[in-house]
Amino acid sequence: MKQRLRAVLNEIEVELKNATTRGKVADYIPPLAQVDPAKFGIAVMLHDGTLISAGDAQEKFSIQSISKVFALTLALGKRGDAIWHRVGREPSGDPFNSSILLELEKGMPRNPFINAGAIVISDILLSSHQPRETIGEIVRFVQSIAEDDDIYIDEVVAKAEDRTGFNNAALANLLKANKNLDNLPPHVLGVYHHQCALAMSCEQLACAGLFLSASGRNPISNHRIVSVERALRINALMMTCGHYDGSGDFAFRVGVPAKSGVGGGILATVPGIASIAVWSPGLNQHGNSLLGTRALELLCRRMGWSIFGR
Ligand code: GLN
Repeated sequence: MKQRLRAVLNEIEVELKNATTRGKVADYIPPLAQVDPAKFGIAVMLHDGTLISAGDAQEKFSIQSISKVFALTLALGKRGDAIWHRVGREPSGDPFNSSILLELEKGMPRNPFINAGAIVISDILLSSHQPRETIGEIVRFVQSIAEDDDIYIDEVVAKAEDRTGFNNAALANLLKANKNLDNLPPHVLGVYHHQCALAMSCEQLACAGLFLSASGRNPISNHRIVSVERALRINALMMTCGHYDGSGDFAFRVGVPAKSGVGGGILATVPGIASIAVWSPGLNQHGNSLLGTRALELLCRRMGWSIFGR
């Protein structure tokens, strides 16, 4: 299987290298507009610790909304199922940054992976701490699950989003007006924008997500990160909500739980088998990596990895 996987990753890298349609890099966060759209990396980690990668898989990029998976995991660990009184578990069918349903549904975000829901999760993590402490806690948590200390926040990206994130400020204010934030919007947004600015490579992300493909336990260190039930539920949310209003299409084409970010990364999990991270900065109309999705579609088809059968 490993030999076949290595060959498939190389094939995919070659096939996508010269693609002329690569999507559009996110330019609403100024530093992300500077990223080279020709970059492409992919890494797969298996349960015996084998890491197979191709392309720019060691280059760090802004993980953006992929961080919502880690923040949710941490918040569930602190507060358990009580978080579901403040955020739902349904796909929104709307863009990631939309405020339409938030107003109609009185400040209860549809799920923790759209911006409004992730801002509530940041508020839960902040609880009564200082934003700095909470940001430090998130970084340490991601370092621990990735078993890698070389993971940090890109302050340039974080500050740029703090300066320009007026839409997120609107969401936070709407949440606060509806009594679904305990802390002040600028403090919560500071945490949220910093967590989104985590810089990681595909190889680091594949390691960090491995527990989700192994029922909540890191199969290499044997370290349990979450309960079996919790891991399955996080995967279910990634499947149904991980690509916003593109989640149905992603399930249709790829067929594994995954979470995207506007930095062009996608973290995917193949239950019982592997964790995958891919990066291609150009995005489709839903803000999900265009070639990253294509790469996962090819990989999961060629390896027979859809969770829906083969
Ligand atoms: N930081 C980004 C935002 O809040 C994250 C969005 C994303 O990756 N989809 O807009």
